[in-house]
Amino acid sequence: MQKLIDGLVKFRKGDFESHRDLFKGLKAEQKPHTLFITCSDSRVDPNMITGTLPGELFIIRNIANLVPPFRETPEYASTTSAIEYAVLVLGVENIIVCGHSNCGGCAACLNSSGILLGLPHTRKWMELADPVRDRVISEIPADEPEAREWMMEQVNAVEQQIHLMTYPYIQEKVQAGHLTLSSWHYIIETGEVFIYDSAAKEFLLANG
Ligand SMILES: [Zn+2]
Repeated sequence: MQKLIDGLVKFRKGDFESHRDLFKGLKAEQKPHTLFITCSDSRVDPNMITGTLPGELFIIRNIANLVPPFRETPEYASTTSAIEYAVLVLGVENIIVCGHSNCGGCAACLNSSGILLGLPHTRKWMELADPVRDRVISEIPADEPEAREWMMEQVNAVEQQIHLMTYPYIQEKVQAGHLTLSSWHYIIETGEVFIYDSAAKEFLLANG
């Protein structure tokens, strides 16, 4: 905990001071251009990898960067409400779904890991990725576990675009050209980001 407190002190004297005008400008409102949906994984830092500052990215994080398909529900729908707010109130221009390498959520889903048995909410949440897992298992043999994980992470990021398009207001804005959807795959150990090219139907390196 002390490390965090030390960080607060360092922030106020350092980064806050050097961006004083930025924070002053952000006092009354935010106008982020992008909704960034990524995994809760501690190794993914959306602002660092995109070179963005406070006020630019509206960020949703959950296990394995999943988007539930549109539905009306009495549950406390965290991801769905944040999407609703970002698109309908903040008017973001882009939605990026950013998966990453060595994703524990994807691996657990892929391997039907025993770890999920003791985690009922996580297991339920990961059901959203079951169709992707089934596809990966049918296309890549079990003796290529790394290829399976890589494909699971990439296809999962693309699949969430399909889920996003089930939201009527997203479909409307995309079709009107007011909103773009994009899927990324961030590689932790190299800093590479691959972006899905829908014409080529493959992920292409964006920062080589
Ligand atoms: Zn992850």
